[in-house]
Amino acid sequence: MSRLLESYAAIPAAGSVRLAKRTSNLFRPRSANEAPGLDVSGLDGVIEVDVVNRTADVQGVCTYEHLVEATLPHGLIPLVVPQLRTITLGGAVTGLGIEATSFRNGLPHESVIEMDILTGAGEIVTASMEQHDDLFRTFPNSYGSLGYATRLKIELEPVPAYVALRHVRFDDAAQLGKAVEAIVESGEWEGERIDGLDGVAFEPGELYLTLAQWSDGGSEAPDAASSGGHPLVGDYTGQQIYYRSVQERETDLLTMHDYLWRWDTDWFWCSGAFGLHNPRIRRLWPRRWRRSDVYHKLVGIDRRFGIIDRIDRRRGLPARERVIQDVEVSIADLPAFLAWFDDNVGMRPVWLCPLRLRGERTWPTYPLEPGTTYVNAGFWGTVPVGDNADHAPTNRAIEAELRVLGGHKSLYSEAFYGREEFDRLYDGANLAGVKDRYDPDHRLTTLYDKAVRRH
Ligand SMILES: Cc1cc2nc3c(=O)[nH]c(=O)nc-3n(C[C@H](O)[C@H](O)[C@H](O)COP(=O)(O)OP(=O)(O)OC[C@H]3O[C@@H](n4cnc5c(N)ncnc54)[C@H](O)[C@@H]3O)c2cc1C
Repeated sequence: MSRLLESYAAIPAAGSVRLAKRTSNLFRPRSANEAPGLDVSGLDGVIEVDVVNRTADVQGVCTYEHLVEATLPHGLIPLVVPQLRTITLGGAVTGLGIEATSFRNGLPHESVIEMDILTGAGEIVTASMEQHDDLFRTFPNSYGSLGYATRLKIELEPVPAYVALRHVRFDDAAQLGKAVEAIVESGEWEGERIDGLDGVAFEPGELYLTLAQWSDGGSEAPDAASSGGHPLVGDYTGQQIYYRSVQERETDLLTMHDYLWRWDTDWFWCSGAFGLHNPRIRRLWPRRWRRSDVYHKLVGIDRRFGIIDRIDRRRGLPARERVIQDVEVSIADLPAFLAWFDDNVGMRPVWLCPLRLRGERTWPTYPLEPGTTYVNAGFWGTVPVGDNADHAPTNRAIEAELRVLGGHKSLYSEAFYGREEFDRLYDGANLAGVKDRYDPDHRLTTLYDKAVRRH
């Protein structure tokens, strides 16, 4: 902690404060920064797992991969485990993580009991619903603009060793939406308890929900400790690719560990951009490098040197626009959004993840209504747009459609909102008031400057 505070003191008052962190899941380009970053090198561990009370005390930049390594041997996991291994607990709370348990457990910040935050004033403040509740409630979706979480105490949930999956096909989004509502209402599908729920839209008439049930594995399970390589337990860390199994199999059984990281190995389906869907390249690609953080670094290198853009130009292909977004619409609006998306963007597959607030409590910087079911639609790729690429026409059109449907988008990627609209969507007035209290000298970059102006 002293290293963190010293590094904060060393940042000139005029310089912007940023984390000096090895990994990132941020997808918006940022302006270069001359000032030294905040030294968070000693803040990546798990302090304690309390097995009796089912809580964990965790440092702010501990990755979920390390956190799960510490909790799973006790048969416990965080209530929501975002699916990219190097997302940190602090990052998921300040930047809104989501996963298949979000239809019953909400978002990661809803299972935070308390957190220590290094504020813009350079003080460590413990925030919870009982103390500094203004900071506690405004922090989710503030992306470090109010301060940095250095320690978080979170709830954990008990889990068995396996997860039994059913991939159920739907011919249209309205049918899928009805099924989601039924599962949210009863917690069941055809009499079976559902613990995890996400889906993939492959084509307009081909959508799937993956229904996950925590399981001891039944008669199909080998001894949990020696599960590797058992023929009845799916393994998508080798030659098989998880997203394809959604279309190809009706049922599956994964270890809890492999279920949590099922999307990381191939960065959903985005590893295809590096040739990993080709069996020959996949065999040659070292297993330890089939991870989202490796692909993220490769994308960073490509962006820095403009490699693919240059190849496309030489081939006479139109310039492409990066469309990397997670947006959320109400379940009732999902069919309209997907229909618009097919007509105007046309990227497939699209990841679908239902979510609901866990309780009645609301979070002003990302306003969701209690009792309403939403779906997060995630799409990550590029579309050909020609000379207009720099103006980001597709990303802007998506914002316009969300405006029509009353949806929101995550702010980890590019955003183009005008100030007024941004403030309306993310409660800028409340954010500014809380910022004035905890960052009186405005040492930290504002959310709008980070998300839209790319500072
Ligand atoms: C292609 C793509 C797909 C994604 N899909 C999903 C998804 O399906 N599910 C999901 O859960 N998330 C997803 N994310 C979003 C991800 O959860 C957020 O971007 C999250 O903020 C990343 O956390 P990180 O720890 O990697 O933080 P970083 O990427 O390092 O930082 C993200 C932001 O959070 C701030 N920050 C980081 N740590 C802290 C801290 N301790 N305290 C305060 N502020 C902090 C940083 O200043 C920065 O503004 C996706 C991101 C990408 C790029």
